[in-house]
Amino acid sequence: MTLKPSILIVEDEAALTEMLRYNLEREGFRVAAASDGEEALVSVSETRPDLILLDWMLPHLSGLDLCRQLRRGPSTRDIPIIMITARGEESDKIRGLNTGADDYVTKPFSPHELVARVRAVLRRSRPALGGATLRHGELEMDLAAHRVRRAGRDVHLGPTEFRLLRHFMEHPGRVFSREQLLDAVWGRDVEVEQRTVDVHIRRLRQAVNNGHDTDAIRTVRSAGYALAEE
Ligand code: CA
Repeated sequence: MTLKPSILIVEDEAALTEMLRYNLEREGFRVAAASDGEEALVSVSETRPDLILLDWMLPHLSGLDLCRQLRRGPSTRDIPIIMITARGEESDKIRGLNTGADDYVTKPFSPHELVARVRAVLRRSRPALGGATLRHGELEMDLAAHRVRRAGRDVHLGPTEFRLLRHFMEHPGRVFSREQLLDAVWGRDVEVEQRTVDVHIRRLRQAVNNGHDTDAIRTVRSAGYALAEE
């Protein structure tokens, strides 16, 4: 049986809705769209989507208010929400996450990045819907089998390096500081020095780059680390 996850796009810009619809349908999702908050509420009450892509700037009811309202409803509070924000709305992003959004993407974003985020959020909320394989360029991570390949060749990773790589692959294109990596991979409550991150990044690099000409991990000076672009 194939499960086709359904996505509701709430966005008032028709061109962006169509771009999202095209890319999500091509990746095997079912797509519904609403152009404002009221329409979205009606749509959700008729057919519960597996995930909502919610634009921050909407006419009438704002994306933030809609998010709050969905989080209050007993039948809608568990629907994963990804907020779409404009660049520079850093504090808005944080407010969005506090309001209960599961993740956010910043305009302009690549379809590839968006689909990866959708899959990652679905995987966290419902493992059966998200698929068990992450892909980025030559890298492939089978989460169920705990197996990593680069260009078809097996890569052997320790548990910490596996979690690091998984975190990068779930957020392709994002740069993470050492502190963010510590929080995400080791956990907030663990006392680890930031230098430890460098040690594990070095091991991760050695393992994934072994036998390859290009570095799969990007060092961003004074900012942190990211996956190399595809
Ligand atoms: Ca908008």
